[in-house]
Amino acid sequence: MSTSDMTPTRAASGRIRELVRRIAVDVFGTSETDVPIPGFTIFTDRRLDDPLAGLRAALLMRLVAEAQLYDYARTARAAGRSWDQIGTVLGLPIGDAPVGEVAFDWLVCGRAPDPDREGMRSFRTSSAYWRCSTCGAQVTDDGPFESHPGDNETSHTDICTRHWAEVAAWAQRTGRTD
Ligand SMILES: [Zn+2]
Repeated sequence: MSTSDMTPTRAASGRIRELVRRIAVDVFGTSETDVPIPGFTIFTDRRLDDPLAGLRAALLMRLVAEAQLYDYARTARAAGRSWDQIGTVLGLPIGDAPVGEVAFDWLVCGRAPDPDREGMRSFRTSSAYWRCSTCGAQVTDDGPFESHPGDNETSHTDICTRHWAEVAAWAQRTGRTD
């Protein structure tokens, strides 16, 4: 593979793998050995002498990354992004469920997307909390499951333009006013 084949995403994946290996060595106490790549005379690959250290490092990376999924989703909600937008970035939907609902179930309720799962709605008890970047209030976000925005998000101030815009969009979408 020449460097011109190296997309930014592929290059970033390589940096992440390298970081996992560094953590395995620096934190979990293994060493590395250069091993030849079959078919090449000058290129070598690096192998961890203790693969279990690699496993520990990869697990740590995963836990940190999963926490960041939640943190960035909350930050995005605070900045006015919808659960649908978040779900689209995450590559959802999976199955027939609405994108935003699957995203909330995954990141807030800790239920990984599963196309075969049904009927989980009544067990949902988690909420996300973030500070609205428009009105400054601490908002309780119960997910995009109800029709009216006021049933999904509580504690925006009475004069929050973001919230009123969502209520106005709801009224236009549904033809209702209350
Ligand atoms: Zn607000």
